[in-house]
Amino acid sequence: MKFSEIEYVQINYEDIKNQYTKLTEELKESKTKEEALEIIKKINAIDTEFNSYGTLASIRNSIDTTNEVYEKAQEFFDEVSPQYQELSTNYYKVLINLPFANELKEELGSLLFDRINLSLKTFKPEIIEDLIEDNKLSTEYSKLIASAKIEFDGKVLNLSQLGPYGESLDREVRKNASLARGKWFFEHMEEFDEIYDKMVKVRTRIAHKLGYENFVQLGYDNLGRTDYNPSDVKNYREQIYNSLVPVAQELFAKQIERINVENPMPYDYNLNFLSGNATPKGTTEEKVANAMKMYDELSSETSHFFRFLVENELMDLETKPNKQGGGYCTYIPKFQLPFIFSNFNGTSGDIDVLTHEFGHSFQVYSSKDVPIPEYIWPTLEACEIHSMSMEFFAYPWMNLFFGNDEEKYKYTHLKGAITFVPYGAAVDEFQTYVYENYNATPKERRMKWLEIHKKYEPHLKFDELEYYKEGLRWFAQGHIFNSPFYYIDYTLAQVCAFQFKNMMDVDQEKAWNTYVKLCKLGGSKSFLNLLDAVGLMNPFKDGCIEKVMKPLKEKISSIDDSKF
Ligand SMILES: [Zn+2]
Repeated sequence: MKFSEIEYVQINYEDIKNQYTKLTEELKESKTKEEALEIIKKINAIDTEFNSYGTLASIRNSIDTTNEVYEKAQEFFDEVSPQYQELSTNYYKVLINLPFANELKEELGSLLFDRINLSLKTFKPEIIEDLIEDNKLSTEYSKLIASAKIEFDGKVLNLSQLGPYGESLDREVRKNASLARGKWFFEHMEEFDEIYDKMVKVRTRIAHKLGYENFVQLGYDNLGRTDYNPSDVKNYREQIYNSLVPVAQELFAKQIERINVENPMPYDYNLNFLSGNATPKGTTEEKVANAMKMYDELSSETSHFFRFLVENELMDLETKPNKQGGGYCTYIPKFQLPFIFSNFNGTSGDIDVLTHEFGHSFQVYSSKDVPIPEYIWPTLEACEIHSMSMEFFAYPWMNLFFGNDEEKYKYTHLKGAITFVPYGAAVDEFQTYVYENYNATPKERRMKWLEIHKKYEPHLKFDELEYYKEGLRWFAQGHIFNSPFYYIDYTLAQVCAFQFKNMMDVDQEKAWNTYVKLCKLGGSKSFLNLLDAVGLMNPFKDGCIEKVMKPLKEKISSIDDSKF
């Protein structure tokens, strides 16, 4: 079914609620495993219906934030989702307390039961009002970001459209683009501070109501992390600091040598080469056509699937006024349709969408037939393995998009992947500070950001740059506002994707088969169990990062970057 042909049906929440409650009652009275499984099937069907229209509303709202129909639909789901969560909590409570729950565990897998235990810890009806407030604040933040209108180069630009200027060969343009961006955030500093402050307060209030000391562990539990905790992550950040930050700093030093800048400022690091950054050639249509050729040649699985995406209009790629920023991949279970959203802006990021978001969609489509909806997606750090590894699997076809700039693109991409990890650790450490010190003032938070950031990315002198010295750079990092503690997942996944990269450099076939196996498992196992099932190393284990970085460092050091 084509995306444009899907009709949005307004859910009648009362109906759903009545059916759901009735089925939960029936489940409570059920006497056998078979009887229970029949009822669970019906509940899953309601779930599919509810999530599908919620997702559809959210997609169409993000494509045009001014469309009133979907703005209203989005508001409706913001409003009822927490109430719906209460229904599912009641169902889960009944499910795990059935006298024959162990038989069901065998049938459905123990992970579902582990997750239920977590989700019961993270919900009480008393927090519904707070969750609604949190949702509204998230929407407010997204709207504020989308509202950016920055006068630059004789035009009025949104943040995404301003992006390419930041990569300009002309240092003045880079500087001015960076200042224009900083100025916009500075002018809205109070609004960002206020939204975030309210978020921290409401999340802390929820944590306290649920009996947590603060929001940190609750944040982990909300993300369904069943096999690691904040102290594992603290250790992991230390591994990053010790074994990865030095490699990243070397790469940044080489970059500054290449572009021959004295007293480098943060905006200089957007430029990788004096000969200009590698930019993809062609129109959106041509990029899509090249992606099709690439996926045709990579494997039969990807060939079939990419054609399916194109034929069913499941990608909205170009940037447009009033479109939400960023990129994502989501899934509409009722129609078994993934959807890819992005804002193409003519930089290499466009190609990253065609590989990264494609990887997500490939996984969700590969695992669409798992026995219960809860197992379609894994937890988020595992999700990003599929997307980030696909970026590496696509390397042999980069000449299609970049022509002579192919090697330059790959160098930039690998450098970007490595140097991203310290930034991700900074974002995580910052949030840990914020929620552990929930009474800190907005200004204290911003100053702490500068301090933590300096530890992981000491080359960036934001404290010397107008506007940025206010410690506001993280305002642009939506995850900090809308998805607390999610960000470290990208680094965990990156470390796993590096393992795929190292593997494919030695044995492409083995790497691909391992990848497909991982995608098919979907979310039927926890993060560390997924890694175990396909033979990847656990990133929390001491020495992992050092081991992963060794071949990568050799690889990237062996490239003569002075020729680019
Ligand atoms: Zn992703």
